[in-house]
Amino acid sequence: MRFRAGPSVLRVVGLLGLWALAGCYRTHIVVGPDAGPPTPDAWSPPPPDAWRPDAWAPDAFVPPSECARDLDCAGRLCVQDLSLPPRDLELVPLHCAGPVGTLPPGAECDSNAACDHGMCALAGGCVDACLSAADCRAGERCARVPVVTSESSLQFAQGCVRWVDPPSGVSVVANDTLTFPSFSTQRVVIDPLATPTRFTLLVADALDDNRYVSSVATSAGETVFDAFQLGAVRQDLVVAPFQDHVPILVPNGDRDFALGTGFVAQLETGATTTMHRLVMDRASAGSSVDVNVFYVGVAPPRGGSPPLEVRRMLDQLGVLLGRIELRVGRERHFVVPGATARTFEIIESDAEVGDLFAYSAGAARAAINVFLIRSGFDFLGIAGGAPGAMVVHGTRGSGIAIGFEDVLSFLPMAPDDELGTVIGHEMGHFVGMFHTTEIDGTVIEPLSDTPECSLAQDSDGDGMLMPFECDGFGADNVMFWGPFQAAPRWSPRQTRIFQNAMVLQ
Ligand SMILES: [Zn+2]
Repeated sequence: MRFRAGPSVLRVVGLLGLWALAGCYRTHIVVGPDAGPPTPDAWSPPPPDAWRPDAWAPDAFVPPSECARDLDCAGRLCVQDLSLPPRDLELVPLHCAGPVGTLPPGAECDSNAACDHGMCALAGGCVDACLSAADCRAGERCARVPVVTSESSLQFAQGCVRWVDPPSGVSVVANDTLTFPSFSTQRVVIDPLATPTRFTLLVADALDDNRYVSSVATSAGETVFDAFQLGAVRQDLVVAPFQDHVPILVPNGDRDFALGTGFVAQLETGATTTMHRLVMDRASAGSSVDVNVFYVGVAPPRGGSPPLEVRRMLDQLGVLLGRIELRVGRERHFVVPGATARTFEIIESDAEVGDLFAYSAGAARAAINVFLIRSGFDFLGIAGGAPGAMVVHGTRGSGIAIGFEDVLSFLPMAPDDELGTVIGHEMGHFVGMFHTTEIDGTVIEPLSDTPECSLAQDSDGDGMLMPFECDGFGADNVMFWGPFQAAPRWSPRQTRIFQNAMVLQ
């Protein structure tokens, strides 16, 4: 555990990274990136505000929309005006007309023309326009949705998207909104478990560096998570907030909690926060994981087939998941066009990672969003939390990202199955796993069946636990901080977490 001045940060770590648990007046937890090799220096940094989605936009154009939602159209629909030329980064122009295609909002789509409102989200679901959630159906929100309008343009609409897209086998038991005052300690009651696995996700409407869960207790008063003892004492449960969301997965450690056991989490807030609460239960294990692959400046599919290296990555992932009787299910592939790809192909900050994951709005199915970027500033791969926002799309935690060109350049030094291990490792975080041991010997993970590698193994005394030092102490585990060994394994407890992930079919 390390401490440093400034806002406290607990980072979920990575391939060449480390945990840093730092503190100011209290512990606050943020899950950060997996670190990777130094970024190649062949590119020039974009202008300071280039992360803003509208930073590249001309500012003279006002979209000629005559409506913002169906309500404005007196019995007709408020649809995309497909007669206008595409304009990258602008708002989608809307007008009142009859249906464009036949697919209703929320249906999977491949083109704008297929959807009744003429808008197919980048992430492959039809959307209809809205001004606020009041224009949408129950269980939906009005979100900023990217819509592909040509091979070189991505435009934006305010569209209705479902809060949650659970697979069959997962039941949503709460989908509501809570408001918390500033700088307060709030009790978040997690009702008695009706099934062995429950996922409570709080999604905030704004970022807040001082928002974290300080403790979780059973309704009988037994503490099962204490943020102030993280890394010092093995926890029964670990809760690590990430950017805009707080994920509470029960169980994510050794302990099987009895059905009928409820919990109370203490949520600390900085600013006043409105949070959307989603609670979902899973009664039995799933068997496959669907993926949405987004190409961000990375060579896209041709003729309907993904590039060779992407195919290899997904096939190797299939082998890795096959060891725990899971498989890769249905794949969908989406190309991010225009200036948006240039903005995000090289990620430069944690904030930008969250901005990118939000482009999954409108995905409309239970799948893990995999963003293939060219390079991450200090990671090979990064997950939107541990767990991330499983089956909740369009948030800052709704996916994983892979620095694909960096991983490819790393391959000559890596085992043959490295591509699959990198994506499998990030998916491991996304479904709720932590590293077996951090690079500095800290153990955050609440599982006892993965070998630990303590600083006693640091044979060269450099303070970093490398794979050759951790042979027999967890270096062969998928969730070792990295770099990886060939044919890495999952422990039985890790297997259980993955097989019961809410995102599995
Ligand atoms: Zn990691």
